[in-house]
Amino acid sequence: MRWSAERGWHDGRLEPYGSFTLEPATSVFHYGQAMFEGMKAYRQHDGSITLFRPEENAARFNASARRMAMPELPPEVFVESLELLVSQDRGWVPEGAGRSLYLRPFMIATDPALGFTHPSRTFLFCVVASPATAYFGGGPPTSLTVWLSTSFTRAVRGGTGFAKTGGNYAGAFAAGLEATAHGCDQVVWLDAMEHSWVEEMGGMNLFFVFAREGARPRLMTPALTGTLLPGITRDSLLRLAPRLGYDAVEGQISIDEWREECAAGTLTEVFACGTAAVIAPVGAVRSERECWTVGDGRPGPITLRLREELLGIQHGSAPDPDGWVRHVC
Ligand code: PMP
Repeated sequence: MRWSAERGWHDGRLEPYGSFTLEPATSVFHYGQAMFEGMKAYRQHDGSITLFRPEENAARFNASARRMAMPELPPEVFVESLELLVSQDRGWVPEGAGRSLYLRPFMIATDPALGFTHPSRTFLFCVVASPATAYFGGGPPTSLTVWLSTSFTRAVRGGTGFAKTGGNYAGAFAAGLEATAHGCDQVVWLDAMEHSWVEEMGGMNLFFVFAREGARPRLMTPALTGTLLPGITRDSLLRLAPRLGYDAVEGQISIDEWREECAAGTLTEVFACGTAAVIAPVGAVRSERECWTVGDGRPGPITLRLREELLGIQHGSAPDPDGWVRHVC
């Protein structure tokens, strides 16, 4: 589907996956005016196909669009385009409860213009469907070892950290390579000013689980200050956790607190969450100066319970009191 100032959104169509042509001067190649979403279509126990909270992806898509000076897409058009694509061929979503098809809606600036004078005035919106592979190997989750990046910063206040724009990810590759070089699976981003406050991971948000004597366990996830992506899995867990008997709050945690509370045994579990990996336990932390383990380094019971519950809702085997699951076909 295309957008121009004169015609607004137009020319929506469904076509087989293939290449399209853009001039070398197309502005997205030079100025990175681009954004995307990441979602899945799920196969349910009864064979039907569903989406999970697609209206939230539509809202985040438009928040990204506003930040990137791109046109918003009516939420119902966003959702309808996913539904049309998914229902085109039910066979694209593999058989078997819980299996899924990855969906990648994206928008790029298409003006052929080399001058950095004004944002593009034409845009292209597409959705690509692709087989979903397990993010960290599949099967029961194994714990990740994470790298605290102090040489790179992902986002600053007033920047584009909360938007799902390609440049955030382009800038993250070097930190990912640094993490791999240190034998770690993922980068943990810290704040830009002091490099001491935890923000999020490469493609996931983070949760910390605190055990409290005589009280409900408390889950804490870094607050949305404009520098981290407002994950839909993160939001779902903040709502789900109290129903399972846990307190869940947004807050902040420094790397010193992370290390010290782990040593004291009060911070018992840490996990990352996102559409692709759902919930991934964090077992060990490394930086240039130090390393420590979280609990005994293995996936903790609260992490596993939340994972099972969320997967249950997404796959239709657990009740869905908030109406998060949207039936497609
Ligand atoms: N943070 C970043 C940087 C991400 O790329 C993602 C994946 N979209 C997330 C967090 C998790 O977001 P969600 O739960 O909506 O997939």
